[in-house]
Amino acid sequence: MSGATNNLNDATPTCTVLYSLAPKGLGTHECESLLSYVARLAEAHRVSLAALCEYVRQQTPSAGWRRWLNPVVGLSLRVPEAFISTLIALTGQSSIKLCSFDSLSNVVHLHKAQNFRSQRHCPMCVKRTRYPEGWHRLIWSIEIVQACPEHKVLLVDSTCGASHDEWVYQSDRAYTPGVCKNCRKPGFACIGKAPQKAAAQQLWVAKEVGKLVQAITRGERFDASRLPSGISIIVKQRWKNTAEAARELGVAFSTLHLALSGEARISLRLLVSLCSAGGVSVVSVLRGEVSSLLRKREPIVFQRYFSKDKQPRRVSRLRSEIERVLAREPDVRLVRLAQMVGVDTSFFYRNFPDVIEHLREMRKTEAPLKRWRANLKLARRFLAAKRELLSLGREFSTVNVYNSVGVIVRSGVPLRLYLFVREKL
Ligand SMILES: [Zn+2]
Ligand SMILES: [Zn+2]
Repeated sequence: MSGATNNLNDATPTCTVLYSLAPKGLGTHECESLLSYVARLAEAHRVSLAALCEYVRQQTPSAGWRRWLNPVVGLSLRVPEAFISTLIALTGQSSIKLCSFDSLSNVVHLHKAQNFRSQRHCPMCVKRTRYPEGWHRLIWSIEIVQACPEHKVLLVDSTCGASHDEWVYQSDRAYTPGVCKNCRKPGFACIGKAPQKAAAQQLWVAKEVGKLVQAITRGERFDASRLPSGISIIVKQRWKNTAEAARELGVAFSTLHLALSGEARISLRLLVSLCSAGGVSVVSVLRGEVSSLLRKREPIVFQRYFSKDKQPRRVSRLRSEIERVLAREPDVRLVRLAQMVGVDTSFFYRNFPDVIEHLREMRKTEAPLKRWRANLKLARRFLAAKRELLSLGREFSTVNVYNSVGVIVRSGVPLRLYLFVREKL
């Protein structure tokens, strides 16, 4: 395996062990995945993908192999450093390292970011760039992306649409970008379905992740210390508190809390969810450029942490207990209710937002009347006390009148009561 770079501008061409193919779509949302690059390289050398991967492994003396034993799974979003550096040494193409999301993983955690269920592609992209020109886009491997940012259609599973008797022999079913594995039809011509239009939300996600792919594959690096301030701004301006934000985003309170404090990395999908709620660009949040929200929108949620079947048994047990208390004391205060069932009030914000809403409504409708009656009672006592002090010819302040009536000043009633009394005197 030997070849020379065919760069005509280079006065002294360097010899490389493998062909020095250039990665496709670098610095655009269409950037190639490393899997696609290696598959094209194998094709150029007329060897199988597995054989090429095995060859690269042999040149890499010490590395954990487990993650890339299956190249189709292991060479998409995050590729082991050792594999990339060996590949660079063999091809002389240093830009290969830009074809993965590895640089982002210091800032955003990519656990569950890759779509492992099946290979996907945009039906219009594969039609436009056909074999042997075609390549697999990095963006197709990202789970939350469901549409092509350019063609505005849904991505489709790269599974064969032809019948079994059109399938080629098992040994010929190699992975080739843009070619159906089973029937070897270029551009997945076997899938007869017409492309489906993507929804606005799917398109927004695709475009935002597309911009992210563009930035990363151009070589941009993000600073992990800038992210917490950006996401804090979104949470503060969009919601009342972190608990409410976590609930609407469908994640555990601690997940969001740790990300806001910078103690743990945020997941890619939570970051995109947050940005969608504030109508801000994901890349600008990563750059630390966001100072205010563009608009408040319903967040795009990719997972449901608190779906009914995921709720712990304790929560459902507590709910019945809460309902019993509410039936007995409909105007109970939240703090008291929390004490009675033996949990923190934050537990309520996380698990029983509807109960909090209910209590709030109760206070709005029933409490004012009750409070007014109590105020009137106090006001009478206040007036009596004040008259008494006056008749005694004593100096008095509001505080000592209250003291003589026995009202605790910090209970919140006094100011309004004082104004009421002053009106009457
Ligand atoms: Zn497309
Ligand atoms: Zn097929």
